[in-house]
Amino acid sequence: MSNPSLLILAGDGIGPEVMTEVKKIINWYGEKRDMPFDVSEDLVGGSAYDAHGTPLHDDTMAKAQEVDAVLLGAVGGPQYDSLDFSVKPERGLLRLRKEMDLFANLRPAQCFDALADFSSLKKDVVAGLDIMIVRELTSGIYFGEPRGIIEEGNERVGINTQRYTESEIARVARSAFEMARRRNNKVCSMEKANVMESGILWRDVVTEIHQAEYPDVELSHMYADAGAMQLCRWPKQFDVIVTDNLFGDLLSDAAAMLTGSLGMLPSASLGAPMANGRPKALYEPVHGSAPDIAGQGKANPIACVLSFAMALRYSFDQGAEADRLENAVEKVLADGLRTADLLGEEGAQPVSTSEMGDAIIAALDASL
Ligand code: NAD
Repeated sequence: MSNPSLLILAGDGIGPEVMTEVKKIINWYGEKRDMPFDVSEDLVGGSAYDAHGTPLHDDTMAKAQEVDAVLLGAVGGPQYDSLDFSVKPERGLLRLRKEMDLFANLRPAQCFDALADFSSLKKDVVAGLDIMIVRELTSGIYFGEPRGIIEEGNERVGINTQRYTESEIARVARSAFEMARRRNNKVCSMEKANVMESGILWRDVVTEIHQAEYPDVELSHMYADAGAMQLCRWPKQFDVIVTDNLFGDLLSDAAAMLTGSLGMLPSASLGAPMANGRPKALYEPVHGSAPDIAGQGKANPIACVLSFAMALRYSFDQGAEADRLENAVEKVLADGLRTADLLGEEGAQPVSTSEMGDAIIAALDASL
């Protein structure tokens, strides 16, 4: 059988810096766990624009469709801000998501004990927190038609349309129920069925899929605004939250910040299963290209490392190895290692991006 294949798109800014650490870890799995990956690398975002005049070359898109998983760093930077909208770095990422039809965005919010003091909430509210937000990613108000800015009378009107088909709701609901079965078996679905027809349909379809296919999973419903309050009040009541594109955008960012730094947050975007049974998949840290610290060895590589751990779990069925990697991250944090973004106290010495990566490798070695 051939090795699992990975396409690495490191991107711009700190993307290549954090990805260098992940590549060390991928090599470690090949050497120490006899898990070799066929790794190819290519350009995305500003670096692809510089080389090809487009933020994602067609050949790169074709490769992304063929591999078992894509691992992306980050895209963007101030030098690309004045480019035409059609070739901005972010368009490369959006094209990947769209053409791979990655409809389920997984955003874990997990609080490592060593960082519980870092949250803006009280320690007992966040310590041990481990929730997963499943956000619908390819439909809803960001894509619905009609849209635009029109003239009406003597003023302009901005229009966007929230639109969901039953099948779009059903497939992301299934992703959430499947996820819950691998976790603590609870799904909370969030919409605004009190004021939106698309919310009424969302609630109906999620309930139907639950009754027909996942009666073993505990399902609850919540209005998204109440959900936002509950996330801040007592987030540990949730296991998996499933919600639409717009509410998911807001709720996942809010939940993420419960846990501290952007430099800690991984994500996965999954699509339909391929012929080999693996879902189409793109793994990436939540953060951007951080131009303010790029090239200085200050970036925290953990978000990207944890994104690879998600790939191990969700694309390669290596849950135990994903646990090993997450435990290694937990250990280095418990040992007190901090990149600059994780330092609260004055006078404490940060470690560099590569020192953090090396410490994670040492913790992996120690786990054998
Ligand atoms: P950002 O996430 O790049 O940075 C926000 C702040 O967090 C900065 O102060 C940065 O230094 C810090 N930060 C982010 N990641 C970090 C890490 N791993 N370690 C330490 N500190 C980290 O967001 P921004 O500044 O709004 O955007 C910068 C560029 O990135 C823009 O061009 C934007 O369009 C792009 N962007 C890309 C993505 C993506 O590739 N998925 C996501 C968001 C923003």
